Amino acid sequence: MTISDFGDHKLIFLGTGGGRIHCSTQYRRTGGIIYYFNGAQAHIDPGPGAIVYLNQMNIDRLKTKWVIVTHAHTDHCNDVPVIIESLHETLKKKAGTLITTNQYLNSLDEYYIRLMEQVIVMKNGKKFKLTNITEIQGTKVMHGKTEGFGLIFTQNSMKNPQGQYKIAFTSDTEIFNGFAEQFDGVDILVANVLRPNDRHCPRHACVDEIIPTICAIHPKIFIMTHFGAYMDSKYSKKDLVPDQVKKIKNSVPQDIKVIGAKDGMQIEIAKQL
Ligand SMILES: [Zn+2]
Ligand SMILES: [Zn+2]
Repeated sequence: MTISDFGDHKLIFLGTGGGRIHCSTQYRRTGGIIYYFNGAQAHIDPGPGAIVYLNQMNIDRLKTKWVIVTHAHTDHCNDVPVIIESLHETLKKKAGTLITTNQYLNSLDEYYIRLMEQVIVMKNGKKFKLTNITEIQGTKVMHGKTEGFGLIFTQNSMKNPQGQYKIAFTSDTEIFNGFAEQFDGVDILVANVLRPNDRHCPRHACVDEIIPTICAIHPKIFIMTHFGAYMDSKYSKKDLVPDQVKKIKNSVPQDIKVIGAKDGMQIEIAKQL
């Protein structure tokens, strides 16, 4: 892979917080992730504040072509209506693709669904071509009774038939048998890791639970995000993320780059791979 093949591909963390406390305090923001590639962007899980941070960071709202809502929890979907309206230059013309679950669609007013050019119901194992060189595939989550999915994007080079990379987003899930296998061959893994060390949280992952899966998947880059209040909050004595990054680095193969996401962080993908 050469940089010029994927030169404009980047991740922008509009928010790195998850759960009720961060939604309420915005101590860590909850705007989700912008994944920009080939001149357009996917907005993944626009939680509370997404539209505010999008504007604050001068990100072009009209470049949002895909709105991805991995499940119907507030920290992932609160700002979807305004993000849908904002990606339209005019409401006279349908625009954008909404990729989500049936459960979330059933809770969204018809008005917003009608504004979309396309609506895709995503689930584990389902593949869909976003463009002629970008494909997505749904992965399995176990997140209580809530319907959800993770996603693997496969990005192919326009110039070089062999040039390709894969980036995956786990979404909210506990770690289950077969979790790691579904991310086989992924270059960048972006995982929602709510809690530090062995502080288990039902329906979510903590650091000690994710470590064996990072070893098994062996991505080039591991990024953790979607931190809960036990990791870092207005009420905690210390931001535990840097220590947890160190712990992961010391527990996984040394060639894996480990990154703890920060609000507003931007990652230029080609430079990192
Ligand atoms: Zn969440
Ligand atoms: Zn959730």
